[in-house]
Amino acid sequence: MTERTIRKAAMPAGISHYLTDYDAGRSGFTWEGARRALTGDTDARLNIAFEAVDRNVERGHGARLAARFIDRSWKRVDVTYTELQTRCNRFAGVLRSLGIEHDTNAVGPGSGPARPGPCVATLLGRVPELFTVGLGTLKSGNVFCSLFSAFGPEPLKTRLELGHVRVLVTTETLYRRKVAGIREMLPELRHVLIVREDVHTQLPAGTLDFEQLMRLSSETYEAAPTRDADVALLHFTSGTTGRPKGVTLTHAAVVAQHATSQLVLDLHPGEVYWCTADPGWVTGIAYGLIGPLTCAATMIVDREEFDPQRWYQVLAQECVNIWYTAPTAIRMLMKAGASLARARRYPCLRHMASVGEPLNAEAVIWGVEAFGMPFHDTWWQTETGAIMIANFAACDVPPGSMGRAVPGIEAQVVRRAGGRLEVIASPDEVGEIALRPGWPSMFSSYLESPERYRESFVDGWYLAGDLARRDREGYFWFIGRSDDVIKSAGHLISPFEVESTLMTHPAVAQAAVIGVPDPIAGQAVKAFVELRSGFEASEELRRKILGHARRLLGAVVAPREIAFSDSLPRTRSGKIMRRLLRARELGLPEGDLSTLEGRET
Ligand code: ATP
Ligand code: MG
Repeated sequence: MTERTIRKAAMPAGISHYLTDYDAGRSGFTWEGARRALTGDTDARLNIAFEAVDRNVERGHGARLAARFIDRSWKRVDVTYTELQTRCNRFAGVLRSLGIEHDTNAVGPGSGPARPGPCVATLLGRVPELFTVGLGTLKSGNVFCSLFSAFGPEPLKTRLELGHVRVLVTTETLYRRKVAGIREMLPELRHVLIVREDVHTQLPAGTLDFEQLMRLSSETYEAAPTRDADVALLHFTSGTTGRPKGVTLTHAAVVAQHATSQLVLDLHPGEVYWCTADPGWVTGIAYGLIGPLTCAATMIVDREEFDPQRWYQVLAQECVNIWYTAPTAIRMLMKAGASLARARRYPCLRHMASVGEPLNAEAVIWGVEAFGMPFHDTWWQTETGAIMIANFAACDVPPGSMGRAVPGIEAQVVRRAGGRLEVIASPDEVGEIALRPGWPSMFSSYLESPERYRESFVDGWYLAGDLARRDREGYFWFIGRSDDVIKSAGHLISPFEVESTLMTHPAVAQAAVIGVPDPIAGQAVKAFVELRSGFEASEELRRKILGHARRLLGAVVAPREIAFSDSLPRTRSGKIMRRLLRARELGLPEGDLSTLEGRET
């Protein structure tokens, strides 16, 4: 902990948090218990959609709002749990009518212990149909994959091929712009269902009308008898460190996604919850669809893109209780100034969390300035399927720390010693984040890469590829991705630490730090800096920022060079790509990035 730790001694009245005593919460926790608490039984069958939707209807929450979709002109579409159930049943029936059913002989994505069913993908924005298709697919026992709607034809083709996708649900516009041209190259893609934007236009050749099929389908459908180990979801990683990987998760993931929605997001039944992640990424499905529904919460889904004014309006007007967002967005809000946030009141808001990239201490503290509460960092990956490390709503928050291991998760920092791993027992020493396998949402395969999957596990641990240190109280502090860490003159330098320090300068909005070759030190630190509005790049400002960094970090760790950048290179999910900065710096080809991630048509 640090002297800046935000103490949670005085809790807001009237809220019984899921986790108040961290140690007691950990020691009393088992995954079997979590599974029983979710399902209420010990049945060997487990189906994500059943737990997310039908279970709520069964328990009398059918009339409750499952989701509210808001469009550009603030038109709202409300969907209750019962309506969602009916829609999912109809879609599961549509798949059956198309011959796409849970079939033990079918070849689908992944190579886990159980043979997965065929894959159904969406290429949609944040629309109600995405919920229907995702949950209907899961209910029918098939594998669901949500593709990011801004992908161009190339990244789409790669993913549709890798996932052996049989059915794609998309809009007419997206189909014409992105899919029509590659359709012939995708023999496994049997059916394309179109969610119509205009009922009067003619459907493209070779496609089916989604709503028409839905109308013909039955309102009832019994959930497929899937089991814990059956593959349910296919996600692609963000591609921050290399070519994006296809990751499969099983139906058991719902146990961890539910438990963490309670323990970390602190979601109670009936609460209003807003997850800003796009459904094209794992967060948008795990915590933008499945987890919150299993908590019988009401989700706000804003169909528009980021805009500070609009976001504050969503928070205030929709009475959001719990907000899950990302550091990039928080930093952009900071750039727009705390006074904009304070121009409205948020009496319902009681918990704010963040994921995806390191959350610097300034951003955590800015939360207090702007909303009267800190942002709570959470750490996880596509591969872990659920939050693994977090700052909990009712616990102290040391700004800049990712928090502590979630109950049921054994997380350590380790070092490699020969073929073995050594747990680093002494506090504050840097090592790789390692997780003990056995939690329910652990990935079951990397598509087409069984070897890579095997190599992720060493000596009985899953190695996450991120470096961190763990302090005396068990809080983890992010250092960087293994590939991004800088070694200079024998020192291990954390790009995150340098970036966070640069961002404490009033002119700096965002920063990215990389190692560049240096004949003497091996590597030297170079920083790329985006300025806040109102500041102009100049030699004088560069010297001032350098001086600021040297004063706080010391000469060895401070950047030797600072370059101003109008916008830092990011993945489609908004993460800074340091590897691209490194490649540019060294004059190397930019690799997969331009073809896989960058293109939008
Ligand atoms: P790829 O694996 O293709 O390079 P990616 O790792 O960015 O892409 P994701 O699975 O979406 O793909 O992201 C997980 C990674 O994001 C983590 O391994 C970590 O590096 C980073 N991350 C997530 N949450 C945090 C956090 N709270 N603090 C620091 N880093 C985080
Ligand atoms: Mg990764």
